[in-house]
Amino acid sequence: MFGLPQLELPFFWTKPAPDKGNGARSGSSQRPSGSIPEEPRTIACGGQEIRYVVRRSARRRSLGLQIDTRGLRVAAPLKARQAEIDRLILSNTAWILAKLREWQRPEYQAARAWAPGDPIALLGSVRPLRIAQGRAGLAKFDDALILTVPKPDDEAVVRARLRDALKAEARAWFAGRLGHYALRYGVDTPTLRISQAVTRWGSCARDRDGAHRVSLNWRMIHFEGRLIDYVVAHEIAHIKHMHHGPRFWSAVAKLYPDYADARDEIRRRTLELPNI
Ligand SMILES: [Zn+2]
Repeated sequence: MFGLPQLELPFFWTKPAPDKGNGARSGSSQRPSGSIPEEPRTIACGGQEIRYVVRRSARRRSLGLQIDTRGLRVAAPLKARQAEIDRLILSNTAWILAKLREWQRPEYQAARAWAPGDPIALLGSVRPLRIAQGRAGLAKFDDALILTVPKPDDEAVVRARLRDALKAEARAWFAGRLGHYALRYGVDTPTLRISQAVTRWGSCARDRDGAHRVSLNWRMIHFEGRLIDYVVAHEIAHIKHMHHGPRFWSAVAKLYPDYADARDEIRRRTLELPNI
């Protein structure tokens, strides 16, 4: 079904588009998610009115449905026609309604609010975040994190610069752990891509030339290194096993013996992630 082998480790549900996987080049820089315009829409679906948003992107080659606490989103190529989008939604009504119901459960509605000034967890260590004026950057001290931004009073600017800083921390940390597990597994270190879509922890894909690329969600940088290591080991094991069969899990177990506990814990703790 997929154009290229690709496996995902979901923490929010994403319905894969029929032919996804051949769009993004490894290492390409991504736009901040806030810069993609969202078009609000409604559609009558299974006897009820459903609100959703369309997010168009030049990098998108096919339509995809995503559902999380924010509701239904349709990722679309720039030129996708509304009739195609309607058809996709109407042909997946049962799936959409089931997932929307699932997300209405109270435990999912509790996703943690974050406001500038709240403490930040970085690799499991929670520190107060102080915000100061200056050239954008993040300084780490034992007892505090200091974020400098050009406009400290502008909440949107603070959030955007904080996301940038955390992504940079994530990239540096993930690159080291990816190299570590690739060496242990006896494979070339795959290209690292930092993902920012709130759709999955990680994924592993093979390009046409046979090189692998691993996408890792920067939000994991809030978690302890041992949890990040589980996701890294999981994706590295996919380099030899592009499935979730017994041979895949035995490869994961060799790289990361306590994988079952880590997998449960990271699932449980998804709601701790701040919505920066
Ligand atoms: Zn997997």
